[in-house]
Amino acid sequence: MHVVVVGGGIGALTAARFLSNEKKDDLRVTLISPRDYVEYIPSALQCMVDPWHVDKSTAVLEDVVRRCKGRLEFVQDQVIGIDDGKVSLRSNRDIAYDCLLIASGTTYDSPIHAGGKTVDERKAELEEFKVRLDKSEHVMIAGGGITGVELAAEIRQTYKDKEVTLVARSTGLILDCGAKASGYVEKWFRKHRVRVITNAKAMPASDGTVQLWSADSGEDTEKLKVDLFIPCFGGKPNSQFMDERYLDRRGRIVVGTDLRVEGMGGSVFAIGDIASISGGHALFAEKTAEVASRNILNLNQNKPMLKYPISAYKVPYELTATAVSLGKWDGIVIMGPLPISGLLAAGIKHFIEWAFVQFLSVKRLGFIYGIVLGVTLPTVRLLDKLTGNAPST
Ligand SMILES: Cc1cc2nc3c(=O)[nH]c(=O)nc-3n(C[C@H](O)[C@H](O)[C@H](O)COP(=O)(O)OP(=O)(O)OC[C@H]3O[C@@H](n4cnc5c(N)ncnc54)[C@H](O)[C@@H]3O)c2cc1C
Repeated sequence: MHVVVVGGGIGALTAARFLSNEKKDDLRVTLISPRDYVEYIPSALQCMVDPWHVDKSTAVLEDVVRRCKGRLEFVQDQVIGIDDGKVSLRSNRDIAYDCLLIASGTTYDSPIHAGGKTVDERKAELEEFKVRLDKSEHVMIAGGGITGVELAAEIRQTYKDKEVTLVARSTGLILDCGAKASGYVEKWFRKHRVRVITNAKAMPASDGTVQLWSADSGEDTEKLKVDLFIPCFGGKPNSQFMDERYLDRRGRIVVGTDLRVEGMGGSVFAIGDIASISGGHALFAEKTAEVASRNILNLNQNKPMLKYPISAYKVPYELTATAVSLGKWDGIVIMGPLPISGLLAAGIKHFIEWAFVQFLSVKRLGFIYGIVLGVTLPTVRLLDKLTGNAPST
């Protein structure tokens, strides 16, 4: 069986190494990605103020493939179409598949997401951004989710004298993470002189000003002079190569609970950020990758399909831990009902990055990540059960 995996991110790599670990003689895996490296995307925000950090948050795919067991091949290219058992590549080549696993993710504007095709090109684009950042006196970040919050904190920590403004459309910051986390983050910004404007929309103009208006009433509120405006919202699903009938309203690929793409004949799967039931977190990408990979093997052996997320892992996807960094030395980790904050939270975030990159790049110590996850998820579930937080799914 020939499995083609589209993507070179967290989901694709997890699936490719899972399948190639099977070491079955009749199983061949091809990984197709336009970049020759995998990046731990949550570290991108730190890389925007410290481009050299890219060396710690990336791994070259040829090296990863070499360290994997089994028959795994890497093709550096971009999928531009899918048709009748084959994918078409930008280089005018077609690759036939027996099973297809799509993990093409979501793209934010560069430099949050990479434009460059090699680690050196990635570093160069981050350095170029850093030069613009160095020269800017007033930086405005738009987006009150984790990305906007973490980036504003990185910039404040690195540049003590710049004016930093964070604009959020919502009534508070990181509201999805709960009131405690939101309150902690807002306090940190007050203490570190970051101006937070909530309930507002921002529109940059070509004259270097940004018009703000109320998200509720739509009335203009303020016009600010800004040297650098960084949008941290509106990621676009990478599904341009799919026929529209397979996509939901947001452009994500519609899958059933077994992660098969609806209407595509049973041998095409989608996982991670691009899948309609996924949740936009690294952990979802990883877990959907494992379930879809098992289902590919099950399909080959005529076994029943697993369903995501309940039956395979007994982990409803609401119960995942989130770690938010506030610069290098502070942050908050939300593990079920138990928030951990300050230096310990920052340490946990650094550790997760290190362990995840080890895991993604198939290094010797990668097993540590599996152990951490194996302990964390049941703990979160237990804490949620004890405090009555667990959803009834
Ligand atoms: C700034 C930022 C911070 C984040 N922080 C966190 C965090 O702290 N914790 C957390 O859990 N999650 C975080 N996330 C979310 C997390 O990074 C994503 O959920 C995760 O990366 C999704 O993995 P994926 O494999 O689905 O997609 P991605 O990791 O985005 O990988 C997609 C891959 O597909 C490739 N690709 C795209 N189009 C094609 C094509 N046509 N052909 C071939 N390949 C293609 C891309 O080049 C890329 O390699 C963050 C995201 C961002 C943007």
